[in-house]
Amino acid sequence: MTENAIRRNVEDIRRRIGAAAARAGRRADDVRLMAVTKTVDDQRIIAAIAAGVDIVGENYVQEAKRKIELMGRPREWHFIGHLQTNKAKYAVKLFDMIHSVDRTDVALELNRRAAKEERLIKILIEVNISGEATKRGIDATGAPGLTKEVSRLEHLSIQGLMTMAPWFDDPEAARPCFASLRSLRDRIADAGIPGVTMRELSMGMSGDFEIAVEEGATIVRVGRSLFGERPASSISHQP
Ligand SMILES: *Cc1c(COP(=O)(O)O)cnc(C)c1O
Repeated sequence: MTENAIRRNVEDIRRRIGAAAARAGRRADDVRLMAVTKTVDDQRIIAAIAAGVDIVGENYVQEAKRKIELMGRPREWHFIGHLQTNKAKYAVKLFDMIHSVDRTDVALELNRRAAKEERLIKILIEVNISGEATKRGIDATGAPGLTKEVSRLEHLSIQGLMTMAPWFDDPEAARPCFASLRSLRDRIADAGIPGVTMRELSMGMSGDFEIAVEEGATIVRVGRSLFGERPASSISHQP
C-alpha cells in the first residue's frame, strides 16, 4: 500500500470519526486515532505517522523498542498487547500509555519499575465487557475494585478503561458493549477515587469504531482500515 493510499485512509477514517462524533453531539477533536501496527512494515507506519495519526499502538514490547529507536517520538506510543510482568521494565521506558492493565501483579510490577525510572505512567484498565472466555481483561464486576487497588500505586495514573468488543458481522451488535464500558466508566468516576480521572475510553476497531465514537470512545484503535488486511497467518484479534 502506497503512502498516498495511507494518507487517503487516514482522511477517510477522520471523516467517519467526525460524522459519528457529530451524530452523538461530540467534538471530533475529543477522539484520538491510534494506528495499530501489528504485522505492518516500517514504511507504512512511517507513512501513517506522516499522515497525522495521533497515536501509534503496539502489541509487542520488543518490536516497539526497535521502532521507537528508528522512528523517534513525533507521536505518542501506546501499548495495547498482553503485558507480561517480565516486560514491565521496558514498557515503562517506552510507552506514553499502557492500555492493558487487567491484574494486580502486572500493576505492581509496572509501579515498581516506574518508580525506578522516576516516571508516572498513564494506564487504562482493560475490561472484558462481553464476558467472552477468549477475551482478556478483568470482568466488569471486578473493575471498580481493581481500579481502587491500582489507584494506590504512586507511579501509575489511571486515565480510563479499555475494551475489545467481540467480532460481529453487524457492527451495531457491538453497541451494547461500548455503552456498558461507558456506564462502568461513569460509575467508577462517580466513586471519586483520588488520583483516578476516568477521562479515556479506548474502544472501537476497524469494524466498529463509528459505533464506539457514538458511544463515547476517546481513543479508537484502527489497524486494517488504515493499512489493509493483515496476512492470514497473523492472529487478528488476540495477539
Ligand atoms: C489488532 C488490534 C486492534 C485493531 O484491529 P483492526 O481490526 O485491525 O482495526 C485494536 N486493538 C487491539 C488490542 C488489537 O490487538
